[in-house]
Amino acid sequence: MKKLEEYVKSIPDFPEKGIIFRDVTSVLQDADGLHLAIDTMQEKIKDLDYDVVVGPESRGFIFGTPIAYNNHKPFVLIRKKGKLPRETVSATYDLEYGSATIEMHKDSIKPGQKVLIVDDLIATGGTTEAMIRLIESLGGEVAGVVVLIELAGLKGRERISRYRLESAICYE
Ligand code: 5GP
Repeated sequence: MKKLEEYVKSIPDFPEKGIIFRDVTSVLQDADGLHLAIDTMQEKIKDLDYDVVVGPESRGFIFGTPIAYNNHKPFVLIRKKGKLPRETVSATYDLEYGSATIEMHKDSIKPGQKVLIVDDLIATGGTTEAMIRLIESLGGEVAGVVVLIELAGLKGRERISRYRLESAICYE
């Protein structure tokens, strides 16, 4: 049986020169890869106590929903600005060029609820940090973060060092 990391394709110079893009579509488009990815992520957080799973647009939806479903928890979407129809809270964070704003429905998390954040990948941790701000602004407690891939060289782990971070695959 293939190892999980063997399903990830690494694409040099995408989306720009000098960047190695870790492609998760190659994991998803293989039935064994998809199973192994979800099972491995779940295994990493099997001792974690949480009430709600939160995932960001768009790949956070793919990995977050099956984990929520399998563990009979609700799934909450974090979306780019302007996509959610009801009252929202928002957080803005810096990108390499410019900034991005993400939003969550105001009623999606109740004060005191324990939240598991799920995403495909952590790089600098900027996206995760903005998600944590959103969750905490609603009174939620971040119980932990699980990602399929961690790019350790970009030091996302240090940026969110107050929180538990689990990754199924780690690249230096
Ligand atoms: P960060 O905010 O931690 O710097 O970047 C993380 C976000 O950028 C993730 O939501 C992820 O979807 C996207 N991202 C950054 N680099 C890569 C990559 O090499 N592969 C994939 N699949 N996503 C990436």
